[in-house]
Amino acid sequence: MTMRKFSGDRLVVATHNKGKLEEISALLEPFQVAVTSAGELGLAEPEETESTFIGNARIKAHFAAQASGLPALADDSGISIDGLGGAPGVYTADWAETPKGRDFVMAMTRAWEELEAAQAPYPRTAQFRCTLVMAWPDGHDEVFEGVMPGQVVWPMRGDQGHGYDPIFQPDGFDVTFGEMDRWKKNEISHRADAFRKLVKGCFT
Ligand code: IMP
Repeated sequence: MTMRKFSGDRLVVATHNKGKLEEISALLEPFQVAVTSAGELGLAEPEETESTFIGNARIKAHFAAQASGLPALADDSGISIDGLGGAPGVYTADWAETPKGRDFVMAMTRAWEELEAAQAPYPRTAQFRCTLVMAWPDGHDEVFEGVMPGQVVWPMRGDQGHGYDPIFQPDGFDVTFGEMDRWKKNEISHRADAFRKLVKGCFT
């Protein structure tokens, strides 16, 4: 299984999200790559029409690679809750959408209420997943998947982090991602797992 290595000196991160761009830039710092984002290049945002993380990450990565003529890296992530048949999954962000912006307390409350309604057994297992796709303008791509298993807990705990962090307790810890030191989380998270695989596959 030989993977295509990244050999240029410029890379597009296929996101319009400043937080994601900063996180990815920091991770790629040792490799002396000039990183720009789809947002900074003024590229359009493609619709995420697939029903899998890989499918949607592929759409974003290929779209940015085609539009820019440069290799592009996309990330798609979310939480899959076993007692809800894997929901919200690719709809993780959608569950937080309101006309006034994203409301993750609403999204977390929905997740817990649906688990209660389903009388899901304990522990209420779940996984955070992160898929990274590196795509080249000639249509080639490489896919990397990271996962962090854990359980959904209630009530919410902790004000660090973002998204669903306050109700996710990773396996092997008695704190939620919301209570965990950011540095520690970034070392063990689904995104860290996927990034380690990306670096091994395409950057070393
Ligand atoms: P995306 O930006 O379309 O990939 O959506 C990812 C969604 O999953 C967002 O709503 C995030 O809040 C959520 N998510 C992904 N990773 C994490 C995490 O580490 N903690 C909390 N929420 C996350």
